[in-house]
Amino acid sequence: MGKKVGDWYHYAGAIHVHTTESDGTKSLEEVSAIGERAGLDFILFTDHMNLNNLDAGKEGFHGKLLALVGYEHNDLDDNNHYMVFDTPRVYGKDLSSAEYVRDSGRDNAIGIIAHPDEVRDRKGQYPPFPWTDWNVDGYTGIELWNQMSEWMERLTPRNKLVMAFSPRKSMIGPDVKTLARWDAVNRTRKIVGVASVDAHAFPIKVGPFTVEIFPYKVHFRSLRTYLILPEPMSADFAAAKKQVYDAIRDCRVFGAHIRWGDPVDFQFTGRSGAERVVAGGRLNDFKDAVLRVELPSPAQIRMIGNGRKLIEAVGRELQFNPTEPGIYRVEAWKQGKCWIFSNHIRIAV
Ligand SMILES: [Zn+2]
Ligand SMILES: [Zn+2]
Repeated sequence: MGKKVGDWYHYAGAIHVHTTESDGTKSLEEVSAIGERAGLDFILFTDHMNLNNLDAGKEGFHGKLLALVGYEHNDLDDNNHYMVFDTPRVYGKDLSSAEYVRDSGRDNAIGIIAHPDEVRDRKGQYPPFPWTDWNVDGYTGIELWNQMSEWMERLTPRNKLVMAFSPRKSMIGPDVKTLARWDAVNRTRKIVGVASVDAHAFPIKVGPFTVEIFPYKVHFRSLRTYLILPEPMSADFAAAKKQVYDAIRDCRVFGAHIRWGDPVDFQFTGRSGAERVVAGGRLNDFKDAVLRVELPSPAQIRMIGNGRKLIEAVGRELQFNPTEPGIYRVEAWKQGKCWIFSNHIRIAV
């Protein structure tokens, strides 16, 4: 499906999805069918420590939905979860995080740090699995907003019932600490920032009931990562796969929580003279550069430059003239809840 928006084509996807090949509760085929019905164009699957779905030849179009298979690596302490895509192999179980980041980099795979700043009670039923090794470099991206992770963090014995019955409304936004890290690293090189679901659809006990908090279809109507492609997605599997992974490597993506409105028409563009770019792009000169935000419905728009909030305004559009070189991105919020976040446009850096 996808949609032509301005000169570009936007495609909706769910990133970080588990199946019965690890701790998910449905098969890749079943989950893909649910995703297609929910309006997704693609799903990036990430079972723990295996590529069984890839080896079984399940990558490809399932109906109109493109299913791509990576996996989620973890170290021996079950920390430093790393989503690896576009790789033919699972790296060694006993490697350190620095080693699996390095080895997947050598294969030109995509590596995305999962739920990096997860904080939960260590001794509780659901302990945190944070990224601990910030000396590593060479990763492709960071999960800025992980649905399962935020939901679990916000959970208390008192709000459990409310949270269980309105799992989408309780989301607030990308992790502030993670955003700061992402902005800082992006000043040295391009790192993609994604929104992901971390879907398992496992049951959670709420008082006397066992509730399936996030069925896959609820996840797929929540946090999405949209691709910004210069051409429509190919009907040829290998070509379409390359388009998806190229867009992720190039930071041509934006994240959104669709509970607050369909974000497909969101645009964040930059121009300077004859140059025209979207997120992931670079303008050579900041002197006559103009950044422009367009939203499908009014929201609070924040322009963030070099990690600092520069301007905040309510409306459907915002135009901004940068006064210094740097990396620029935007966020759109509705009633204190994050709706959309872009990746960076680079200006003269
Ligand atoms: Zn994980
Ligand atoms: Zn996971």
